[in-house]
Amino acid sequence: MVGLVIANWKMHGSRAAATDFVDQWGSLPSVEGVEAVLCPPYPYLALIVGATTDLMLGAQNCAEPAEGAYTGEVSAKMLADMGCRYVIVGHSERRSFYGETDAQVATKAQRIVSAGMTAVVCIGEALADREAGAHEAVVSTQLQCSLQGVSAEGLVVAYEPVWAIGTGQTATPQQAEGMHAVIRTRLCEQYGEAGGGIPIIYGGSVKPGNAAELFCCNNIDGALVGGASLDAKSFWQIASASSVGRT
Ligand code: PEP
Repeated sequence: MVGLVIANWKMHGSRAAATDFVDQWGSLPSVEGVEAVLCPPYPYLALIVGATTDLMLGAQNCAEPAEGAYTGEVSAKMLADMGCRYVIVGHSERRSFYGETDAQVATKAQRIVSAGMTAVVCIGEALADREAGAHEAVVSTQLQCSLQGVSAEGLVVAYEPVWAIGTGQTATPQQAEGMHAVIRTRLCEQYGEAGGGIPIIYGGSVKPGNAAELFCCNNIDGALVGGASLDAKSFWQIASASSVGRT
């Protein structure tokens, strides 16, 4: 399976930062065996798509409805039209700050796949769930409910323990691999053979210094990177770590 590293800029960056990132990325050696995706805020999508690099374009969210009178929203079809290949849905920040439910995440994922893109469906437990020993059950339920009606083709699952996002406290490779193995089992139960081919990527304080040990794990197919993706060199180092053994 090709490695997948996705940069989630969240609500950071500027026109200058986006241009600079693309310039820097273009000056670094290309990374073999890995798809590198940049998800900037919406206004900067057009800057990236116009640049000639091997970076793929992605978005951080999309609207639940297909189209219509929804002021301020951006549809999956529009994102595809702008050249996006991936869209993140169900990020824990969207779930906690905007109250997004599993059912809404599933509808958005269906729109994304119907528009010909890949849905990166985020799931992950809170610290209290893990401390209570309920993390596997919580993640399994979230996974099943967030994937209702979503086809295996055009799907990536991102396991992001909430306690590891933006905290500097990454899951250990054992914790991450343990949960990825559970997710793989659930995907195979839901999709049969096709479940074995759905990429499962890890997110939560991934940095150049800890990426390699995570990518050594059998069921970790890449990473969703927040803070460390704002710097082109750091993101490139993470992508390079993911390419080891894939060429
Ligand atoms: C994220 O936003 O998806 C994320 C994993 O952030 P960070 O890498 O900063 O923890």
